[in-house]
Amino acid sequence: MITLDPAVVERADLRIQDGQVVARANGLEPQAGDEVVDVRGKVLMPGLVCGHTHLYSTLARGMPGPERPPANFKEILELVWWRLDRALDREAIYYSALVGALEAAKAGTTCLFDHHSSPSFIKGSLEVVGEALETIGLRGVLCYEITDRGGPALRDEGLEETGLWLKSIKRRIDDARPMSVGSQLLRGMVGAHASFTLSDESLHSCSALMRQYDAGLHIHVAEDLCDVDDAHSKYGLGTIQRLSNHDLLNHRTILAHGTHLDDREIRMAVDARAWFAHNPGSNMNNQVGYAPVARFGDRSVLGTDGMGADMFEQTRLAFLKGRDAHRSSATGDWLRTLARGQQLAAESFGVDLQALAPGSAADLIILNYHAPTPLTVENLAGHLIFGMSSSLVDSVIVNGKFIIKDRQSALDEEELSSKAREAAGRLWRRFTEPGS
Ligand SMILES: [Zn+2]
Repeated sequence: MITLDPAVVERADLRIQDGQVVARANGLEPQAGDEVVDVRGKVLMPGLVCGHTHLYSTLARGMPGPERPPANFKEILELVWWRLDRALDREAIYYSALVGALEAAKAGTTCLFDHHSSPSFIKGSLEVVGEALETIGLRGVLCYEITDRGGPALRDEGLEETGLWLKSIKRRIDDARPMSVGSQLLRGMVGAHASFTLSDESLHSCSALMRQYDAGLHIHVAEDLCDVDDAHSKYGLGTIQRLSNHDLLNHRTILAHGTHLDDREIRMAVDARAWFAHNPGSNMNNQVGYAPVARFGDRSVLGTDGMGADMFEQTRLAFLKGRDAHRSSATGDWLRTLARGQQLAAESFGVDLQALAPGSAADLIILNYHAPTPLTVENLAGHLIFGMSSSLVDSVIVNGKFIIKDRQSALDEEELSSKAREAAGRLWRRFTEPGS
């Protein structure tokens, strides 16, 4: 069994009851009524966490390209992603989330911080994403992307959807008491697109919702220079300063990317204990530059930004990108960054998701990893980066229940893929319609 933080490599048996680890020891004797699962020769570890993703982009895989190649980051948004999100209806949202969540589970990712946008189907959209996650059995922290890009009426619908979702989550958590609050697998945040598509009035409304529901903000920050330039030219401020002025930075807030932030802005965010989600695969794909990850200190986590939810792959990409950029990039740094995703999730769910010790939530993955070299606490990061991968994920348990067993979910996966392909075909037709 291994844990990332604290780094532990040991032989141990676990007893799981009511969604929690209740005992851990080498040589635990089964008690009457226990179901015994033999994992000898396999590696158990806590489930991995994706700190920033967009499940709605799952059905974009293989989609026809835009009418012309985007010339820059803003055009990537305008010609691809903002057209795709406008084409989403209930069916497309559901199958995107269902397929994305299933793939996440099969990759050993047990919790997603999702950032959702569907301007043609706003009200109830987070319930649809939540329903898909519940069907798979994954943990999810969901938000709706508030933005001014569709005008004030759509902005207000986004605010309303956020309020409804946060209220519904509060009710579910209250209903789950006195059982463990960690057994309620969905949470919410206030979602916002980015400074360059949000007026002061909209940021003020986001801040009010955060206070009302004691929630964090989930927003893209300085992903491309265009966000930084916009804040400077319109407001004479840095993007972080602008968020800070609206009281949007707190220990629950997730700032995705931070690629083009200067030292002063990074310090302001770190001092407010906000989190940075680093998405190396997405940054390379969009050619937006390399985020100053080392300066995020102990407040960085890893995300995929919608490019799947394979955190083994993303950790390796983060390491390789750092090496290629001649930055200090040690395997151990990335092991700790990956582990911090579990810390972020633990804070969101109010239950330990890192230690697999008595009292921890039973969110864990079982890998068919037969280490061909000695595996120790000291070289665990080397095994993680150069040896382990999502293809070795054999089984996945969330809240004490198998959601993947022997590489299979309980769903008819062939039928699900077939339905998803049909939904994708309809989505792509709407995406390619002239004027969409
Ligand atoms: Zn994103």
